Amino acid sequence: MFKKILVAYDGSDHAARAFEVAVDLATKLSSQLEIVQVEPHPTTSNWVTEIGRSGNDELSKVAAQVLTPLWAKARSHGVKDVSGDVLYGEPAHEIARYAKDNDVDLVVMGRRGRGRIEGLVLGSVSSHLTSHANCAVLTVK
Ligand code: ATP
Ligand code: MG
Repeated sequence: MFKKILVAYDGSDHAARAFEVAVDLATKLSSQLEIVQVEPHPTTSNWVTEIGRSGNDELSKVAAQVLTPLWAKARSHGVKDVSGDVLYGEPAHEIARYAKDNDVDLVVMGRRGRGRIEGLVLGSVSSHLTSHANCAVLTVK
C-alpha cells in the first residue's frame, strides 16, 4: 500500500509540514517519494520540465533550487527513491494530472498553503485534490 507517495510543495509552512509527514511515511513504508511544485508559467500551461532533461537553463535552475534541498533532506531521512518535477500551470489541475499519469497512490499536502484568505479550512488546491484526485489524499494540518 502507498508504494508511491507524492508531496505537493508550495513553499508554505503547511507544505513544509506535509513534506515532513510524507518523508516519515515513505521511510516507514519503503515508498517512492515524488516532490512536485507548480509554478505559474507566463505563456504555456501543462509545460513540464523534467530535471536533468530540460534544455532550458532558466527553468532547470528554478527546479534545482526548489527540489534539490528537499531531495537531499528526504534521502538523509532514509527515503531511497526520491524524484519529482517542477510543473507549470494551474496547481490543482497539474497536481491531479501528475498523480494520475504517474500512478501515485497517495498525495500528501497541507490543508492550506501560501494563500491569504483567512478562515478557510481548506484552500482551493487541497479542496480540489480531495474531491477529484484518483487516489488517496492526506491533508496535513
Ligand atoms: P488558495 O491558494 O486557494 O488561496 P491556500 O494557498 O491557503 O489557498 P492551497 O493552495 O489549497 O491553500 O494549498 C494547500 C496545499 O496544496 C499546500 O500546503 C501544498 O501542499 C499544496 N499546494 C498549493 N499550491 C501548490 C503549488 N503551486 N505547488 C505545489 N503544491 C501546492
Ligand atoms: Mg494556494
